[in-house]
Amino acid sequence: MGALNHLRLAAFCIVAVLVCPPHSALADDPAVRCLQKQLGKLGYYGGVEDGAVNIELNKAFGDFNDGRASRQFDFELDSSKAIVACRELGMENYRLRAYWPSFRRRIATDFHSTLDTSVQDSLRELASDALDRLHEVFEVSLAETITILAATNKPDLRQIWMQHAGATSDASAFDRIYDLACSNGSIVGGFEFQGVLAICLPKGNIDLTVSLRQPDTQSARNRFTVKLLLFHEIFHAAQYQLLGRPGDGPASQLLQKWGPEWLVEGAAGYFAIRAGFNDGAAGPIYVKIRNEIGGPAGDLSKYESIHKYHASRTDIIELADQGGYAAFVLAGMAGDRSITEFYEKIGFGMHWKTAFLEAFGRSVEDFYRQYGSY
Ligand SMILES: [Zn+2]
Repeated sequence: MGALNHLRLAAFCIVAVLVCPPHSALADDPAVRCLQKQLGKLGYYGGVEDGAVNIELNKAFGDFNDGRASRQFDFELDSSKAIVACRELGMENYRLRAYWPSFRRRIATDFHSTLDTSVQDSLRELASDALDRLHEVFEVSLAETITILAATNKPDLRQIWMQHAGATSDASAFDRIYDLACSNGSIVGGFEFQGVLAICLPKGNIDLTVSLRQPDTQSARNRFTVKLLLFHEIFHAAQYQLLGRPGDGPASQLLQKWGPEWLVEGAAGYFAIRAGFNDGAAGPIYVKIRNEIGGPAGDLSKYESIHKYHASRTDIIELADQGGYAAFVLAGMAGDRSITEFYEKIGFGMHWKTAFLEAFGRSVEDFYRQYGSY
């Protein structure tokens, strides 16, 4: 730990004392309250647990950090970082742990033995890239390990799927999801269920190492499709971790547990486009998408609680297209981070409509009314 960091910390403490009087009027932030409790348990904080960043808490945080051989926290304390600090000090809630950067590489893989090793390497590289981008764009990480499975045909994929999801799934459930997501053997498909991510690859030799800058080759198209798929499914994993693994249930309950289905799918699709391209520029791509889907249209509210296993293919495609475009519009208005904030708020028990209003700065009803004009 260099002297510069200590200097920065000291400078921060002085500035904090000078410009930050105790703000008793600040809202009671559960993350800050959590940090006060944890530092109190460790004997560093003796102040009130009021959920506000105050001078005493700043001092306790600094004392704790300076007391470590290598500073445990490489950041200055403010209310947005309290949740990270709290998790590190023993908070067991995985929704809080999801913020912690060191969690971002929680990926395990189980590829079918017949899969070419260069394909396996490419899948690992792309998944790792997805986690880095997830953290950069949406400031969340994976708190729980996700397992990525891949194979080039249904029996092979079912075999490894049953080893990982056997306790919560059965072969007929697997077959149903596979037929929905992967039925066309010539293209890439996939699905995510409770932290297990299955990738169905096309049969035959595939090469995923080709640069995306050669879009006119089949290999480049394969790599691009696999990349979008991995990014999409990894975002679902993050979504569900933030929501606290709601599992399955009646559609009426899913809406409250997950928020609207158009955003569940749309946000995953948006992340894949936003972060899956090397330059990260989603705007021009969405201009194209806007033209292809004929602009924002239709009634988004009818896709609030659509059941994907029972919906028609047309509905699923429109759900993905319009939902993706809607997520792009929302991120443009309120920032990328607002999307994960929305899921965090639901995960903390907030009603999804209130979470929508707080995260995106407008009611979902207003958004539906105005959607056609974006
Ligand atoms: Zn999806």
